[in-house]
Amino acid sequence: MRLRNIQGARDAIADSPLVIHEPEKAKGNWREIFGNGNPVRIEIGMGKGKFIHELAGKNPDVNYVGIEKYSSVLLRALQKMEAEPRENLLFIRMEAEEIAEVFADGEVDRIYLNFSDPWPKDRHAKRRLPSREFLARYDRILKKDGVLEFKTDNRELFDFALEELAPAGWEAVFVTRDLHHDENKMETNVMTEYEEKFSLKGNPIYKYEIKR
Ligand code: SAH
Repeated sequence: MRLRNIQGARDAIADSPLVIHEPEKAKGNWREIFGNGNPVRIEIGMGKGKFIHELAGKNPDVNYVGIEKYSSVLLRALQKMEAEPRENLLFIRMEAEEIAEVFADGEVDRIYLNFSDPWPKDRHAKRRLPSREFLARYDRILKKDGVLEFKTDNRELFDFALEELAPAGWEAVFVTRDLHHDENKMETNVMTEYEEKFSLKGNPIYKYEIKR
């Protein structure tokens, strides 16, 4: 049953013009792909795509690329696009480790990480999306003065993420351990799927914005 579902999701993705199928060929060519010179912003590990779909609706002069490793989840984002199309939003099904094969140096204007998998075991630290290994990849693709934004409700992951900044050559320009009580930031905050779920449970939401 489950296998059949996954196959169905894979087929739907393979047929979709909203998914970039050979993303390494897109490297350096994102202007041509979107057909304009607007900035390109990406969410890595977008899940069902609520956040990036909403951002794309709010900011038609920005191009967005949603990245997700699982077909079954990405499929939900495609279904949102059927219900409410967005000209400025495309998707890639890929493992984030390959990100620098898909965007050229400085080609990305902003990076969003939302509720990334915590990988709690020490030996898996390198797999965490805000780890120094990943920051080195983001360093290549993000434009010089570009910003990376990260939200989570996981305190251990957030503490880890903050500790990774200095050794990787990044600095925080904004930090909160209770985003939902920061009136200023909440004016423009777009909630992710997980953010809705975990803030309803009463968990505080942590956020940083960083640059080099
Ligand atoms: N950003 C969404 C989903 C958070 S769950 C939200 O805030 O609601 C984390 C998502 O990231 C999952 O869908 C998972 O499949 C994806 N993900 C985790 N590690 C990834 C990786 N290395 N590459 C691509 N996607 C990844």
